[in-house]
Amino acid sequence: MKVFVAGGAGYIGSHAVYELLRAGHEVVVYDNLSTGRRAAVHPEARFYEGDILDRARVVEVLEAERETGAVAVALHFAAKLIVPESVTHPLAYYHNNVEGLRQMLAGLIEADVRHVVFSSTAAVYGEPGEGECFEESATLPINPYGETKLAAERMIQWVAAAHGMNFCVFRYFNVAGADASLEIGLDKDQLTHLVPLIMQTALGQRDRLSIFGSDYDTPDGTCIRDYIHVSDLARAHVLGAEHIVKHQESLLLNLGSGRGYSVREVVAEAEALFPFAYEYAARRPGDPARLIANIQKAREQLDWQPRLGLREILQSDYAYRKKLLEEG
Ligand code: UDP
Repeated sequence: MKVFVAGGAGYIGSHAVYELLRAGHEVVVYDNLSTGRRAAVHPEARFYEGDILDRARVVEVLEAERETGAVAVALHFAAKLIVPESVTHPLAYYHNNVEGLRQMLAGLIEADVRHVVFSSTAAVYGEPGEGECFEESATLPINPYGETKLAAERMIQWVAAAHGMNFCVFRYFNVAGADASLEIGLDKDQLTHLVPLIMQTALGQRDRLSIFGSDYDTPDGTCIRDYIHVSDLARAHVLGAEHIVKHQESLLLNLGSGRGYSVREVVAEAEALFPFAYEYAARRPGDPARLIANIQKAREQLDWQPRLGLREILQSDYAYRKKLLEEG
């Protein structure tokens, strides 16, 4: 089927494009290249430059594509996603993640595309009591990023009900790693996530890693997260998109590995592979102590399960970053 991928030049979007093509789908990428890279778009995908906030452009692209067959489903990856940045710039997050989605949904409806796959986040759960998050768990975000994604989820649910759409909302936990081809990975100027910062330190691009907070209410005092390989996550998108089109129903699913690692444990696993220096530092604003996915629903509904573990995540990110460095 023909799949429209908004944000297909970005980190997760570009991996979804690779997995969609591997599964035999036709792919149309729409991206404003603000953080994405043209080179990350697979050569077999058709590329259109455009902004999700520009509804007329979205409609124009969807109508142009209709000439060769209508788009069956849209995947929406275009969003801002840095927790600390959302704390300092909340309005930018509302603009992009809420208003951007509003324009995109309006464009999809106008062009009669009735299936949408949306990237949400574990940050909608806020500070879950036991740390394990079920899709039915309370949603009480503790930072603007999670707040905007929760608003977006609700918008999709109301709009879908009113306009006869089907959605697949995925709540991502901590996504990291790179495609096995090493052609794509997380390639950004301003990196803030744990895994790539560890690898940049191991590769000598940074002096040391700071571990943010060692006094959380966890066994070793550092925050616990659930890390999922980007290729496992991308594969779930292919299955989710196929499912909602085939079964004409909507889904809301966690995507993680179902296992939690503390920052200290991630550091230890990485240190055993690639030595690097680190120090303990103050807590970072907006960080919940513990976020672990319950992934039973995704396993059942999509017949999916993660194939790659923390070691493969670390190794693939290292290999990708090393390649970037060698290429200059
Ligand atoms: N973290 C850290 N040092 C860093 C970057 C992140 O200790 O240089 C911690 C961060 O405080 C959080 C965990 O690693 O507890 C995961 O953070 P990341 O930014 O990778 O993802 P998030 O969970 O915020 O989406």
